Amino acid sequence: MLTIDSAAKSAYLVAALLFILALAGLSKHESAKLGNYFGIAGMGIALAATVVLAADHDIEPSGLGLLLGASVIGAAIGLWRARIVEMTGMPELIALLHSFVGLAAVLVGWNGYLHVEADPAGHEALRLDSAGLLGIHSAEVFIGIFIGAVTFAGSIVANLKLSARIRSSPLMLPGKNLLNIGALVGFVVLTVWFVTAPQLWQLVVVTVLALLLGWHLVASIGGGDMPVVVSMLNSYSGWAAAASGFLLENDLLIITGALVGSSGAYLSYIMCKAMNRSFVSVIAGGFGVEATAAETKDYGEHREINADQVAALLADADSVIVTPGYGMAVAQAQYGVAELTRRLREKGVNARFGIHPVAGRLPGHMNVLLAEARVPYDIVLEMDEINEEFADTSVVLVIGANDTVNPAASEDPASPIAGMPVLTVWEADNVIVFKRSMAPGYAGVQNPLFFRDNSAMLFGDAKDRIEDILRALPV
Ligand code: NDP
Repeated sequence: MLTIDSAAKSAYLVAALLFILALAGLSKHESAKLGNYFGIAGMGIALAATVVLAADHDIEPSGLGLLLGASVIGAAIGLWRARIVEMTGMPELIALLHSFVGLAAVLVGWNGYLHVEADPAGHEALRLDSAGLLGIHSAEVFIGIFIGAVTFAGSIVANLKLSARIRSSPLMLPGKNLLNIGALVGFVVLTVWFVTAPQLWQLVVVTVLALLLGWHLVASIGGGDMPVVVSMLNSYSGWAAAASGFLLENDLLIITGALVGSSGAYLSYIMCKAMNRSFVSVIAGGFGVEATAAETKDYGEHREINADQVAALLADADSVIVTPGYGMAVAQAQYGVAELTRRLREKGVNARFGIHPVAGRLPGHMNVLLAEARVPYDIVLEMDEINEEFADTSVVLVIGANDTVNPAASEDPASPIAGMPVLTVWEADNVIVFKRSMAPGYAGVQNPLFFRDNSAMLFGDAKDRIEDILRALPV
């Protein structure tokens, strides 16, 4: 006979399958929208099944009211934030959402302790059931709280860095690697202790220790490595959810957590490879990275250019490559840029885009903006494909990009972004840099590209300058 319990478990299975389909859909532009719909459907089913299951388990009416009230308030805040968030604000919003998963895991862990280890009845129930169960429960509580608190604190620091409320440069405490290793050793010792003799103080200590570790891990990462940190926190939030799933005996949370945890870890790995960074070093809070001295180099004078002169250059060009960056997103210049490349292509100019894997503030940020502006996919090339083309290019338009086109990454071993592959725009005949000032990019590193003989700065908001060029471009 079909009980509510088995119906809810079947619904969980359907939801898990929908989440897998969502991930598969999100892996391609063409199917991303469908992937989102699968995700929404899966989450809807999961929420409904959870409420029905709770109602079936003799939950008190006040508890059910709380559950429904919290769902409605959460959904309203989520809808409101999703509607108003700017594309440039997405990374910090995502970091904030990861922090909620971490906080939830901490609260679930503490709740588990209060109901079992700290409650003689719960304690006895588990002990009588089987001698090993209490120990397993204690390990789940402790590990869940640890992962959750690291995720929570790390995500808050990531949110503050991404929203520029704290500096993005790495914190370099003396002996920072020893501090991280010490915290991990402390965690292992405390876990063994808690499993053998659970006491409240151990839980308090591990929560504080994990909060400090999470804060330190992310604070130690420099601006240029933040993309990996964001996907790494995504992964941690998945493992935190899976840990809660074990504690709550909720299969869907375990499956979903494992999906998020492993896909986030894989994304971090891909991004580390793209940026020539050591995966282990980044997840260990910049382990092995030494502090670099502040830059005082004098690169000479930069040259300025105006929109009319750029329009004249473009009118004579055979090939043009646009390399967009975060500034294009800030200025919302993608529509003008799309129009410019369309007009150039109509005139027979080979106009294309070169996309750096970490341009902007989100993986795929530039691709989303260009798709929004209906730029055909076939003229949007990845860094590896476009880098061979710069030497044969008349004009490169660097639109609000900075770190991703910085030659210091390949030429200056002392640079904080040394080793990171970049778009080799300086190999082109002319490089026009659109930005508002001489300020450095997200990694806080000066860019010698701006001072090269074949570079010229077009100052101002990228959208306004593109519109000026469109007006000046001969029809
Ligand atoms: P950067 O962040 O290095 O530089 C952006 C440039 O845009 C700035 O120099 C700024 O100069 C300019 N700018 C800002 N607003 C405007 C505007 N309205 N008009 C014109 N220019 C503007 O950009 P990149 O995309 O090259 O590099 C991305 C950086 O972000 C990398 O360091 C990457 O590691 C990091 N990052 C990437 C993430 C990802 O997943 N993609 C996530 C987190 C961080 P000015 O102020 O003078 O105008």
